Amino acid sequence: MEIAALDVQRALFGLFPSYRNSPLALPWPRMVAIGDSSGCQSPLSFGGFGAMLRHLKRLSTGVRDALTQDALSQKDLGLLQPYQPNLSVTWLFQRAMSVRTNRSLAPNQINDLLSVVFQAMDRLGDPVLRPFLQDVVQFGPLYQTLLQVSLQAPGMIPKILQQVGVAALLDWMGHFGALGTYSALTQISPLLGSWSDRLPEPSRFRWQQRLEGWIYGAGADYRIKD
Ligand SMILES: Cc1cc2nc3c(=O)[nH]c(=O)nc-3n(C[C@H](O)[C@H](O)[C@H](O)COP(=O)(O)OP(=O)(O)OC[C@H]3O[C@@H](n4cnc5c(N)ncnc54)[C@H](O)[C@@H]3O)c2cc1C
Repeated sequence: MEIAALDVQRALFGLFPSYRNSPLALPWPRMVAIGDSSGCQSPLSFGGFGAMLRHLKRLSTGVRDALTQDALSQKDLGLLQPYQPNLSVTWLFQRAMSVRTNRSLAPNQINDLLSVVFQAMDRLGDPVLRPFLQDVVQFGPLYQTLLQVSLQAPGMIPKILQQVGVAALLDWMGHFGALGTYSALTQISPLLGSWSDRLPEPSRFRWQQRLEGWIYGAGADYRIKD
């Protein structure tokens, strides 16, 4: 065949593993997963190194306390990788930005969705946009963004629903509700924090990890820095 007759096509693809039920729970005592092995990264951004750094303080004090308070059972160490609703809600966003095999999508649907969402966040300002860009999802900013998007581009909603499916949406609503609950719980966590300081070991470790789980799971560890 003549070189000129070749029809060169460029294949462009990327693949990142992401977990629906992250972080991953280890089934053994005396072991704790850190970094990528814990599956703690957001399924939306895949920023695994960022996730490790963000959780470094929580994990390093948590590991120290587990060792000093002899809380090394599988259940106790599992508290170091708690359920985080703000991580779970991003699964649906990941789904909305990907096309499943054997499905087709209008060529611009994902770009249109991104434009509408980012325009809404931009209008809402730094307190909404910056945590999201730094991979932290919080209840208030997410609620405001969804409200803006549904008011500004109501036509987008049936398209997303068709793409992600009703089951995924219902599952997401559970995590969204949990995110709201965790945000409310962070209001009482300072009070419980002083109470938990006086608990005997290892109950102290357990309660402190639960409180940390609420804070990180609600994105309340995030502070805007200039
Ligand atoms: C292309 C790409 C782009 C990325 N971009 C970003 C980004 O922009 N922002 C961000 O936050 N994150 C990003 N990440 C993710 C980030 O690189 C990882 O989350 C981070 O490096 C994880 O660190 P880790 O120490 O947990 O694992 P790793 O860095 O994978 O370290 C694990 C180490 O264990 C070693 N190992 C494995 N098995 C064994 C064994 N049996 N015995 C001994 N050693 C072993 C491996 O060789 C490796 O050195 C990116 C990743 C990739 C691949």
